[in-house]
Amino acid sequence: MENIEKFIYADNAATTPVKKEVLQEMFPYFSQNFGNASAVYSIANNSKVALDNARNQVAKALGAKSTEIYFTSGGSESDNWAIKGTALALKRKANKNHIITTKIEHHAVLHTVEYLEKNGFEVTLLDVDQYGMVNPEDVKNAIRPETAIVSVMFANNEIGTIQPIAEIGKVCREKNVYFHTDAVQAIGAVDINVNELNIDMLSLSGHKFGGPKGIGALFIRQGVVIDNLLHGGGQEKSKRAGTENIPSIVGLGKAIELATENISEKNEKLKAMRDALTKKVLSIEKSRLNGHPENRLPGNANFCFEGIEGEGLLLLLNMFGICASSGSACTSGSLDPSHVLLAIGLPHEIAHGSLRVTFSENNTIEDAEFIGDKVIEVVNRLRAMSPVWDKL
Ligand SMILES: *Cc1c(COP(=O)(O)O)cnc(C)c1O
Repeated sequence: MENIEKFIYADNAATTPVKKEVLQEMFPYFSQNFGNASAVYSIANNSKVALDNARNQVAKALGAKSTEIYFTSGGSESDNWAIKGTALALKRKANKNHIITTKIEHHAVLHTVEYLEKNGFEVTLLDVDQYGMVNPEDVKNAIRPETAIVSVMFANNEIGTIQPIAEIGKVCREKNVYFHTDAVQAIGAVDINVNELNIDMLSLSGHKFGGPKGIGALFIRQGVVIDNLLHGGGQEKSKRAGTENIPSIVGLGKAIELATENISEKNEKLKAMRDALTKKVLSIEKSRLNGHPENRLPGNANFCFEGIEGEGLLLLLNMFGICASSGSACTSGSLDPSHVLLAIGLPHEIAHGSLRVTFSENNTIEDAEFIGDKVIEVVNRLRAMSPVWDKL
């Protein structure tokens, strides 16, 4: 790519650029207000105030109390902490050894429960329907007396499907089982109130909504029994050790405030882009839209094309300056088809030919139409040279 300035970034589910206003707020906390928030002298006071302020911003965005917000290094740590922390604590205190989650979770959840399975826990992985939806009845039926935690993601990072979180929360509350949700993709796209939705723990990550990378938070409802993941100093009410990353925490606070403003207005714009792209792409023969037709993230479109390799598609799109992805950033680079596409029932050969385009407010309708035209062009070109396509 000789002209790097002329690229269209449409991989916002993988990460987002830090917003200017966010960067501005962070800047003074690197060299000027650098004090350790645990120190007693007054120059560290700025750090303490900034920490409190950011905690309030995150709490407000979730309808939580600020005492229920804990800063972490990101979505992966929050997921690990919520699940390992409650599973280990409840095993020790109440002999509970069962975990329920779904087949379409992010690897931060799936690999965590696999690890716990190797260490004596029993894991139920719930199926989803053809749109990637979890059935709350299935959650209800899977809960046993020894179930420690149910973890169901708010919105899927690959296909964008938004889960019936209120219904699942209600089931868990009725059965008196902790409910964790990985809401990394949902922040800024869905109005979230942890009390109305009966959520006990919620993971979020700064870099998915205009904040910096390497910072996130875990909401832990007051009274939830949870062990530490990180042991050490007394930060975060002795629940998460490590000197607070004040610049990033400040950035996370500002970013969540901006992301949760005017959600419905922003969603209308994103949906228009997504629908313009979808209309063009679905004119391609033997193509399909993956995920739920309506209950999906406003900026997410995920397609499959028969007879196409996802990697080849992405490389050709890259030549036109289009940054998109095939499934999740964590799966790309491997030859395995996405576990999410397999879970919605797609056969291996079709799951291989997937394309994920995720828009943000920085994109335009023109971007969506340009991408749509180029996808049509590239799919036709690849199929023209494909022996597999000849046979179809
Ligand atoms: C990106 C992502 C994560 C991981 O967050 P990091 O901050 O990158 O560790 C977890 N879950 C979902 C759904 C994600 O999209």
